[in-house]
Amino acid sequence: MPIFNSVAVLGAGTMGTGIAQICAQAGSTVYLFDAFPDALKRAPQRIEKDLSRAVELGKLAKEDVKNTLARIHTVNLLEDCKDLDLVVEAVSESLDLKVDLFSQLDDHVSGECVLATNTSSLSVTQIAARTKLPHRVCGMHFFNPPARMKLVEVVAAHQTDKSVVERVAGYAIELKKTPVVTKDTPGFIVNRVARPFYGEALRCVGEGLADHVTVDRILRDGGGFKMGPFQLMDLIGIDINFAATSSVWEAYFQDPRYRPHPIQKQMVDAGFLGQKSGRGFYDYSGDKG
Ligand code: NAD
Repeated sequence: MPIFNSVAVLGAGTMGTGIAQICAQAGSTVYLFDAFPDALKRAPQRIEKDLSRAVELGKLAKEDVKNTLARIHTVNLLEDCKDLDLVVEAVSESLDLKVDLFSQLDDHVSGECVLATNTSSLSVTQIAARTKLPHRVCGMHFFNPPARMKLVEVVAAHQTDKSVVERVAGYAIELKKTPVVTKDTPGFIVNRVARPFYGEALRCVGEGLADHVTVDRILRDGGGFKMGPFQLMDLIGIDINFAATSSVWEAYFQDPRYRPHPIQKQMVDAGFLGQKSGRGFYDYSGDKG
């Protein structure tokens, strides 16, 4: 039996869908919650597609697809999540939204249930402080796409109990991930280091040094990066990346090293959010599914 048998994943978007998939693959019963019916409809289809691809590649047995999907229950009411041992919150990057959902769960789950947030940049300490039992709140920061990326940052808030960190790190290993325990600092480790990667690339384009295709090509071909910064922003979601940059910048008292760029805001205002909206820095309108 996994360390956490019954798991709720809040938010059936880019991250939540992948997190639900790997938790179910590890044998947990998963409740995948979202407020929007379209997201709940799309999620199982995306999971099935990803698992079927793994079968085609010979990485997964056919019956595992059926078994994994059977362990995932899509729900639009928090009350329908039963006997929870762990909650992984992966809704949009808004402190109030995350706190609101954890507050609702405070009255619904047992005192043993761990509340983990997948936030990229918000203060886990602040989120914990606004719940009834702050010692059971931590960060569980997966990377995109969760089914393939190995790293999970396990973030210990100022109030988090040591045993909570240990159990979450242990569960990450059961999910076949590599957990790294980090303190709760703005952006944790990876997003702190990654902010200037996006920021400087945006400034190069903003100042007319080169276009985004060239910057991506240089970093890929010359720098050996797997993806250029603009491709990566399109994969992550430009809205999510902009929100992460803005909150890291605020959290470091507006340190110019982390300052967001007007191009990001313009893209968000235009609804060009990257792969998920069909258009970002690149055009995905021809992509299927
Ligand atoms: P997303 O926009 O793809 O998905 C967010 C989901 O939250 C959507 O399905 C939306 O319907 C749902 N949602 C919004 N309001 C809700 C509400 N009131 N109740 C229930 N569901 C609601 O976002 P994402 O990229 O999956 O990011 C989710 C979280 O994961 C964010 O905190 C983000 O910072 C973090 N994160 C994102 C990435 C990435 O690369 N995208 C990587 C690591 C962490």
